[in-house]
Amino acid sequence: MKTKSASNWSAAQSEEHYGFKRWGANHFSVDTEGFVQVQPLADGRSIRVMDVVDEAVGMGLKAPIVIRFQDKLRHRVVQLNEVFAKAIKEEGYKGEYRGVFPIKVNQLREVVDEIVAAGKDYNYGLEAGSKPELMIALAMHEGAQRLIICNGYKDHDYIRLALLGRKLGKKIIIVVEQLSEVDSIIQIAKETGVKPLIGFRVKLQTRGEGKWSSSSGDNAKFGLNTAEILFAVEKLKAAKMQQCLKLVHFHIGSQVPNIITIKAAVTEAARFYCQLAKMGFPMGYLDVGGGLGIDYDGSRTNFESSMNYSLEEYARDIIFNVREICTAAAVPVPDIVTESGRAVAAPHSMLVVEVFERINKRESLGKQHQPKAKHKVVTDLEVLLKNKARLGRLERFHDALQKKEEAFSLFNLGYLDLENRAAAEQIFWQICEQIDKEGTKKGYQPEELHDLKKLLADQYVCNFSVFQSLLDSWALKQLFPVTPLHRLAEKPSVNAILVDITCDSDGKIGSFIDLQDTKDYLTLHPLNNKPYYLGIYLTGAYQDIMGDLHNLFGRVNEVHVFLEDDEPNGYYIEEALAGSRVADVIEGVQYQWEELCRRVKQQIDHATKKDLIKPREGVRLVEFYESQMLAKTYLNIEPKSGKKKP
Ligand SMILES: *Cc1c(COP(=O)(O)O)cnc(C)c1O
Repeated sequence: MKTKSASNWSAAQSEEHYGFKRWGANHFSVDTEGFVQVQPLADGRSIRVMDVVDEAVGMGLKAPIVIRFQDKLRHRVVQLNEVFAKAIKEEGYKGEYRGVFPIKVNQLREVVDEIVAAGKDYNYGLEAGSKPELMIALAMHEGAQRLIICNGYKDHDYIRLALLGRKLGKKIIIVVEQLSEVDSIIQIAKETGVKPLIGFRVKLQTRGEGKWSSSSGDNAKFGLNTAEILFAVEKLKAAKMQQCLKLVHFHIGSQVPNIITIKAAVTEAARFYCQLAKMGFPMGYLDVGGGLGIDYDGSRTNFESSMNYSLEEYARDIIFNVREICTAAAVPVPDIVTESGRAVAAPHSMLVVEVFERINKRESLGKQHQPKAKHKVVTDLEVLLKNKARLGRLERFHDALQKKEEAFSLFNLGYLDLENRAAAEQIFWQICEQIDKEGTKKGYQPEELHDLKKLLADQYVCNFSVFQSLLDSWALKQLFPVTPLHRLAEKPSVNAILVDITCDSDGKIGSFIDLQDTKDYLTLHPLNNKPYYLGIYLTGAYQDIMGDLHNLFGRVNEVHVFLEDDEPNGYYIEEALAGSRVADVIEGVQYQWEELCRRVKQQIDHATKKDLIKPREGVRLVEFYESQMLAKTYLNIEPKSGKKKP
């Protein structure tokens, strides 16, 4: 279908511009009408994301909304297991692959359910990092072959729970993170008469790379150093529990961008494994932890938001290196455990936000405010604006900066009125824009001029909270792909950063994926009085649970989508979870909503008695306050009236 827009721009150009093919890994594309399509199984079946958004809005679930594509979760579990099976076959490896999903990455029941179901044919297990997570794992885990790996700090009850799992015949392995845990395990095993399966987490010298590199090395929080391993070994021997030691574990941090790091860590850990096997411990498993990355920017590099390896390479490198080392040491190869969380969960969900306001420095400043008597500093700036040919770009920029500073000083000293100050600011931004426009396609840019684009970028205000829905963007400056969900057959023309609705100047996204390094703005479409939706992708790992209640916005709406061939759109919404209401979030901070209503009613009654409010209005105000208790916490954006605001 031809598009109506006069520009010579196509949906395919948008697909390229936003990098769908690079970070989307066969799962995202743009159709010819300019809508984002998702292919959860990468099998040709496709869902238009805007259809899901429209349907959700019809159900009363407006943006911000999380969409989970459950088939995609299944797809990732199958992919991970198949890739390892293939590597094992190709390398003639004698062991098996026994992956586990770390629950901490996304604890939502529907997510864990889907993963457990998808992993059935592969004996894919679960990993717990805390007592509450172990409680989930014990209940959700199925079968006698699938592993449960117990990591994290452990009190006695944690260990008792794990031994309960042993009694039920589960392959549940307690990974020792601290030397003191060995004593506890020995003591409780004696008390209960249950034989535990034990693993050692080793503190590797191999350092991770990227944002999470402090998970290994001498100062890492977890793991046993070499001396401690020897102590632990002695303790097990003294307790006659040699037969319990089964596993060597390491975890060098999340989102490891460089395959070289992984190779080195696997090599080091495999040596530990062989040493312990040679000391006569039965062993059987090597657990390589998490760290398998997601290529958030699609650049295939060792940049922290990317990864320079494929899933296939990851699997082959682990299998190959372990086999080489075990063969050389004449030790039978172990079964391989991975605890990949991010790589399994991140792709399945996305966040949809609505842009409802554009803040533009030049437009809002001074347009209608021609000063009655122009100050010299304003006319100086006008001269700079008009005589653009006379000076070089950098020189003009510096002159304009100087004049702007001069205007501010004059204002502070009382020599410049509001209208002149507004005019000075406005002309300054016009000059900046002019300089920036001249700069396109001229190769090298001095840094100051390069940064102009960032300075000139508009702010698109979006109805969401970074602190609730995208915490790692704020806390770790992690990048996520962001694109419009529609209008992609139109040429995007506005450079913008995204700001959220929290009262926090940090509540924004000002850094975006790019093939080289990062971009300081995203090019979007001008707003047109109709809803404008953006998708933020690959948000299924960690973001849901790390989010907090900053400004009491709370949970967003959520829908779970499944592919369905018999449905007109090829999908159906299985589950719809409504986001927080005002009453929910304020109860979370110890207020009782009835009490608040009572207090406000009292004040309204009082004001009515004093004749400040008419009785009928008083009744209406009480009703309004009470009804807002049940309203959603995010902005209730009402359709624009069509007319442009002056
Ligand atoms: C967090 C964590 C994981 C998951 O890491 P990803 O990088 O998300 O795969 C695995 N194992 C342990 C011990 C962890 O702490």
